[in-house]
Amino acid sequence: MSASLAERLRAGIVLGAEGYVFELERRGYIKAGPFVPEVVLDFPGAVRELHREFLRAGAEVMVALTYYAHREKLRDVGREGDLEAMNRQAVRIAREVAREGGALVAGNVCNTWAYDPEDPATRDIVRDMYAEQLSWAAEEGVDFVISETNDYLGEALIALEVIQGLGLPAMVTMAPTQPHLTRDGYEYADACRILAAEGAQIVGLNCDRGPRTMVPLIARIRETVECAVAIQPVPYRTDAIGPTMETLLSPKGERAFPVGLDPFTCTRFDMAQFALQARELGVDYIGICCGAGPHHVRAMAEALGREVPASRYSPSMGLHPMFRADVSDRDAAFLPSWTA
Ligand SMILES: [Zn+2]
Repeated sequence: MSASLAERLRAGIVLGAEGYVFELERRGYIKAGPFVPEVVLDFPGAVRELHREFLRAGAEVMVALTYYAHREKLRDVGREGDLEAMNRQAVRIAREVAREGGALVAGNVCNTWAYDPEDPATRDIVRDMYAEQLSWAAEEGVDFVISETNDYLGEALIALEVIQGLGLPAMVTMAPTQPHLTRDGYEYADACRILAAEGAQIVGLNCDRGPRTMVPLIARIRETVECAVAIQPVPYRTDAIGPTMETLLSPKGERAFPVGLDPFTCTRFDMAQFALQARELGVDYIGICCGAGPHHVRAMAEALGREVPASRYSPSMGLHPMFRADVSDRDAAFLPSWTA
C-alpha cells in the first residue's frame, strides 16, 4: 500500500506534475481555445501514456484530467451529455497508472467561469458543478482533491466546502494572475491563510507565473501559514515586464499565450534550480503546471536527490561521441566545424 498524502508530507517533499491540457494540446488531442479534455473519452491511451511519463519522471500524484470537464465548458463544445462519463473515466485512468508506481490519485476541479462575487446566485451554480464532478471522483476513488487556478477566494472556498463534505483532504491553490490580489481583493497570502483556517491541508499557488515571478509570492505565503504549502509554476521565463504567461510578448509585440509560448520555455536546468529554491523556502508540495514536459519533472526529482524510473535514461554526456573524455581526434575535430 502506498503512503497517504499526510504521511508523505510528514516525510518530506511531495513532487507533483500537471500541465496535462497544454501537453495533450501540443500532441494534437485537445483543442486550444475551449481546452476541454475530450481526449479522456476519445483517446484514453494518450492520457494514460502522459500519466505514465510523469510517473516515470518522479511525480507522486496522478491528477485526474477533469480540468474544465465541468458542465459550463462541456456545453460550449456540445458534449454536456458526456460529462459523467468523462469525469469517471479520467479518474479511472489516473488510478490505473498510479497503481503502476505507488502514486496517489487526485481529483481535480478548477475555476468555473460561472462565479461572480457580485451575484450570490452563482454560488449555488458553482457548488452544484463541483458537487457533481467530485461525487463521481469520490465514487471512483481519489486520495485527495486539488482545487486549482482559482481567481476568486470566494470560489475556492466553495470548492473546499464541497471537498470537505466528501471527507477528502484538500489542496487549494490560487492562480496569481494579478500583481498582489485575488480577483475578489485578497492578498494571496491572506487568501491562503483563510483557506488554511477553513481546513485546507495544502494551500498555495499554481499556474500563470513562471518560477521567477511566483517564488517571491510563495515566500510570503510560507511565512503566513503553518500548514503545507504548494507551488506549481508554469515552466516559462516570466519576468518583471511579463510576470505571467498571459503577458509575455513575442519580439513583434504579439501575445504569446497560449499557443506561442515555446520560445519562453524553461530548460530542465531552470526547473531543477527552481525545485531547489522551493525546497530552501520550505515548500512542501513542489510541482509544475501548463507547459510541463516529463523532462522537467525528472530534472526536478533528481535535483531533490531522487532516482526515478526515467533516471535510467538521464543524460550521460560522457558517452557522447564528441563530449566524452577519450574523444578521438577525428570526432574532436568535428565540433569546431559545427559552429557555422
Ligand atoms: Zn496551468
